Amino acid sequence: MTDPEARLIENQPESKRSSSGRLYILSAPSGAGKTTLCQEILKHFSTIRYSISHTTRLPRPGEKDGVDYFFITEEEFVNGIQEGSWAEWAKVHDNYYGTSSRFLDNILLSGSDILLDIDVQGTMKIIKQYPDAITIFIMPPSLEKLNQRLRDRGTDSDEVIEKRLQNAKEEIERKGIYKHTVVNDQLEKAKQELFQIIHQYQTS
Ligand code: ADP
Ligand code: 5GP
Repeated sequence: MTDPEARLIENQPESKRSSSGRLYILSAPSGAGKTTLCQEILKHFSTIRYSISHTTRLPRPGEKDGVDYFFITEEEFVNGIQEGSWAEWAKVHDNYYGTSSRFLDNILLSGSDILLDIDVQGTMKIIKQYPDAITIFIMPPSLEKLNQRLRDRGTDSDEVIEKRLQNAKEEIERKGIYKHTVVNDQLEKAKQELFQIIHQYQTS
């Protein structure tokens, strides 16, 4: 890690915060089906709000600013770090991604539930602040199938796909920090399993 990055990390919030809404976190190696499953969750559980992350990554075809992500420049992102705007942030596959602290706090304090689609590094930071977060890791059936899905999706170059596959191995090694794991082999089955997990918290 470079020195400026180390200094910026010091600005990440550490303290625990109490909240009334439920905080769900979904993580998965890129291509495992997280976006697809998040959309299914939001359709099925109409009271759960989605946390739209900020990123310096360029939009993929079809992605919309303010819907899929807030697409911002690196300068804006780094300013956000210095100003303490991110509840968590991480550099994933060479791009910055972050969750707005203000948005997250407002949703939770208003009593609404929220769903975060963030990586493993981000999850570790969030569970320090919100130990009650309901964390779910989506596993691909195999690395071969993950590779195939990324290629079939057709949104990333070979080089980007290689990087994502390498990162996938590291993320899978850290899946033990999550409270739940769901294997996304058959989409319908994974969806039902996820719904069951969430339902159990919605009714508790
Ligand atoms: P992520 O958000 O984790 O990167 P996506 O939701 O974009 O992943 O899914 C990656 C690709 O795999 C998409 O083209 C999606 O339609 C497809 N996909 C998702 N789940 C399944 C599944 N169970 N079986 C086959 N293809 C899937
Ligand atoms: P993608 O570029 O495929 O949309 O996302 C790449 C990775 O970044 C995924 O693992 C996704 O979960 C993660 N990600 C998206 N938003 C955030 C965020 O706000 N914070 C963190 N830490 N990771 C994020």
